[in-house]
Amino acid sequence: MDFRTQKRFDTNKTPKSAEADRIVSASTTDDDAAFELKLRPHHLREFIGQEKAKEQLAIALEAAKARGEALDHVLLFGPPGLGKTTLATIIANELGVGYQQTSGPALQIQGDLTAILTNLRERQVLFLDEIHRLQPVLEEKLYTALEDYQLDIIIGQGPSARTHVMEIRPFTFVAATTRPGLLSSPLRSRFGILLRLEFYTDDELRYIVERSAEVIGVTIDQDGAAEIAMRSRGTPRIANRLLRRVRDFAEVRANGTIDRETAQKALAMLEVDAHGFDELDRRLLRTIIEKYDGGPVGLNTLAAALAEEEDALEEVYEPFLIQIGFLDRTPRGRVATRLAYEHLGIEMPRKTSLF
Ligand code: ADP
Repeated sequence: MDFRTQKRFDTNKTPKSAEADRIVSASTTDDDAAFELKLRPHHLREFIGQEKAKEQLAIALEAAKARGEALDHVLLFGPPGLGKTTLATIIANELGVGYQQTSGPALQIQGDLTAILTNLRERQVLFLDEIHRLQPVLEEKLYTALEDYQLDIIIGQGPSARTHVMEIRPFTFVAATTRPGLLSSPLRSRFGILLRLEFYTDDELRYIVERSAEVIGVTIDQDGAAEIAMRSRGTPRIANRLLRRVRDFAEVRANGTIDRETAQKALAMLEVDAHGFDELDRRLLRTIIEKYDGGPVGLNTLAAALAEEEDALEEVYEPFLIQIGFLDRTPRGRVATRLAYEHLGIEMPRKTSLF
């Protein structure tokens, strides 16, 4: 087994950790699923933010529609909760074609993939979430399907086995990953459109909160929406979840409408601080500062000290902390920045120079 295969097998599992239970978790919980479905924008014009990705996609969609062809295959990448699945469904809606969804971990045997590919309808969208967790043998099977809309099927066993080439209907493959670095270059080269999703600004999140409030029928003023947006770690999934919890609080403890004061009280009760940090973020930064003198500390050491999985740290906690400048990822390990010291109210030691 080569190194790449080994690495990918190691990640062939969903990172398990306390992450899933956090109110500011970017991963979906069962509780979220039905709620999210209701809030999901259906068209590109309702999809807020991500201007660069949206423009690139709008042009490609228009060109494909004009030519009457299937859209080029699309790779969406970025941290969880930023809208990858939403964009996949929007692509199908905008093209007016069918949509089917599966994920890397859900596809276990070749037969599953063969069945999906042979049942595709003309020009439909096939969405594969967490493609970095797809088994290498299935990945190889995908290559010809993506390139030539053909599938190699082996009939029989042993010396009498024969390969049969089967045609499949032209389709658009949309794949999503939080870890683009783990994809092999042959796989990456099969995608004509690569879209990177970024964390959202506070203003964009405020719009998302206002739109979601309208959909679920709760009254919120601008300040209340801004308060929720600010604490959502740049992530619409978290913004929508916080909105739901704040709405509960507003209904029980206030008059049902959300203003700044109600939002602040609700979020304080939920222990979500001004940056959207919860206990786990604070523990991560505090551990680097107090146990490892601010770093650098290696990912595996840090994961062991926190009793968390390395994957969860790298995929879920770190991207946002790095984005807002609280954490640095250096070749020698993770380092807590001045902002992290200030946020936790710990004095930053002066670096003594030997010269
Ligand atoms: P991902 O697949 O990247 O984990 P999703 O597409 O499932 O994220 O998005 C999570 C939720 O956030 C969706 O239900 C949707 O309501 C909301 N959402 C994501 N992006 C946007 C956006 N740009 N505008 C409005 N809502 C969004």
